[in-house]
Amino acid sequence: MSGRHFLQIPGPTNVPDRVLRAIDRAPIDHRGPEFAELGKRCLSGLKRIFQTSGEVVIFTASGTGATEAALVNTLSPGDGVLMVETGHFAWLWNKVAERIGLETTVIETDWRHGADADAINKALREDKDHKIKAVCVVHNETSTGCSTGLPAIRKAIDDAGHPALLIVDSISGLGSLDLQMDKWGLDVVIAGSQKGLMLPPGMAFNGISKKALEAHKTAKLQRSYWDWTDMLAQKDQGFFPFTPATNMLFGVAEVIDMFEEEGFDNVFARHDRLAEATRAAVQAWGLETVCADPKDHSSSLTAVMMPEGHSADALRKVILEHFDLSLGSGLNKLADKVFRIGHLGWVNDLMLMGTLSGVEMGLALAGVPHQRGGCDAAMRVLARA
Ligand code: PLP
Repeated sequence: MSGRHFLQIPGPTNVPDRVLRAIDRAPIDHRGPEFAELGKRCLSGLKRIFQTSGEVVIFTASGTGATEAALVNTLSPGDGVLMVETGHFAWLWNKVAERIGLETTVIETDWRHGADADAINKALREDKDHKIKAVCVVHNETSTGCSTGLPAIRKAIDDAGHPALLIVDSISGLGSLDLQMDKWGLDVVIAGSQKGLMLPPGMAFNGISKKALEAHKTAKLQRSYWDWTDMLAQKDQGFFPFTPATNMLFGVAEVIDMFEEEGFDNVFARHDRLAEATRAAVQAWGLETVCADPKDHSSSLTAVMMPEGHSADALRKVILEHFDLSLGSGLNKLADKVFRIGHLGWVNDLMLMGTLSGVEMGLALAGVPHQRGGCDAAMRVLARA
């Protein structure tokens, strides 16, 4: 294949050339003065991305590590946690919570909606003894393309008069969808490098509120590598307790500059627009999105349901082989039933149009019943004045 591979899965995403160039250099002494400046620059810039005056810690880990870190740093064995199973990643997070000794209460969903604030409010009102210590919500469920309005979840907790922490997995949200950690009263925000943050995989983050830091002081779950106290001990000097992923941090600094040059509002508006164009294409093809409620549509990815009797994996194979385009697979109970189009991170109009035309040609080649004109519908959205 000549030309560039199209990586349009919902993470890892395309890494901008200037980020690749920033990372492509010799490592430096992680206890030296040049590193100290880099560490401080990354931590303060990340706080602006998380929209918090609280703390941000950086782990060398995939996103799952940071989901575990959020729990072990704030909770004690046997504590109750309220989880909402919005899809595969919420399901996985529940497994993490069970394995480390938390008592989970799970609100089930049909995997076609974001988390329901009313159901959370009801569960918390019933928890008269405040056994539930944390409400865990996935901001953007990458397996379904449904996102959750976080201010409504905060309100549901406050209206129940419940003291639980609000812990949010925004691994595929942060950097693509607006997330105002302080203003929305989020206690821990979990993020990963490889999605909207436009970096390679391998780095994960916890944003930490004052309330979460207070809970950390008495939290008794076993932890060592993940301990926030260790991570925060030398933050003012820009240093880490262990060897950090030095070269990735050069990339983090570059990404912070890129976000600030584009402007956060413009970044979010770009994602909204590309998502709208994608949905226009899906609708014109006569296919259905997994997300069943327009208010929950994710701006970072679109999950599309296959017509009954047709294999999503066979379609993805045809598209990869003919057009060198990678799309996301269906996960867990959506395996082979769904394909996912990532439109998050470093993507522009023509990258999206290349992707959508790859899908439209693939649908024809794979013999999947659909109507033509999806690309045309998307172009009409993108060419709108
Ligand atoms: N949570 C969400 C919402 C995700 O999208 C992912 C990965 O795609 C994870 C958790 C797990 O992250 P990782 O695979 O980096 O461990």
